[in-house]
Amino acid sequence: MKTIKIAIQKSGRLNEKSVDLLKKSGLSFENYKSSLISPVNNFPLEILFLRDDDIPEYVQDGIADLGIVGENVIAEKEVDVTYLQKLGFGKCSLKLAIANHSDINVLADLNGKSIATSYPVILNNFLQENNINAEIREISGSVEISTNLGLSDAIFDIVSTGGTLKSNGLKPFAEVMRSEAVLIGKNGIAKNPVVFELLQRIQSVLRAEQ
Ligand code: ATP
Ligand code: ZN
Repeated sequence: MKTIKIAIQKSGRLNEKSVDLLKKSGLSFENYKSSLISPVNNFPLEILFLRDDDIPEYVQDGIADLGIVGENVIAEKEVDVTYLQKLGFGKCSLKLAIANHSDINVLADLNGKSIATSYPVILNNFLQENNINAEIREISGSVEISTNLGLSDAIFDIVSTGGTLKSNGLKPFAEVMRSEAVLIGKNGIAKNPVVFELLQRIQSVLRAEQ
């Protein structure tokens, strides 16, 4: 039987909890060091260590059969994959934020304004649903400082505690999406017996942690 591949983040906020979950599910393997692929010693599975942004497409295209990634990244990539299980970690929220002294008060005030973000697809969908015509400025990082620098009137970014917003003179204005890490699979893979067994084990780990 073909070995099933699961893609997880190689380093970053989801790596440790993804590795933990798989280890608690009884899988024995080495965490990412320098090799992209780690075989599992006691289960017909291989772990692929990737940047989180690449995981949705790898799973959609079947290069990986399964993946662990944030719902925010899946939504941004607009991929067609199967949701198998919410995992309860990596929780965050995607919010619009404005300067403390901004003249923006209601959503409609965003008309004609510019919004900086690393999530242009999710933001564009939200603006369209709310009939708002704003300019999206895509930037890859440090979105929070763009308003101070006069690059944008608002930002749209991941917020967990709000500390980064605060230290940049910003305040949350509207929540657009909540996100947590999820197990996804390429379409049709849930029928695979190895995947079924892994999902059972993951679900019993999650139940024990509740
Ligand atoms: P990579 O190098 O893999 O591209 P990254 O820098 O894009 O990593 P991380 O910062 O490690 O990503 O975040 C990974 C995921 O963790 C996010 O996409 C999101 O789903 C989740 N997350 C939870 N809390 C936060 C937070 N406070 N800030 C950013 N991401 C968070
Ligand atoms: Zn990333």
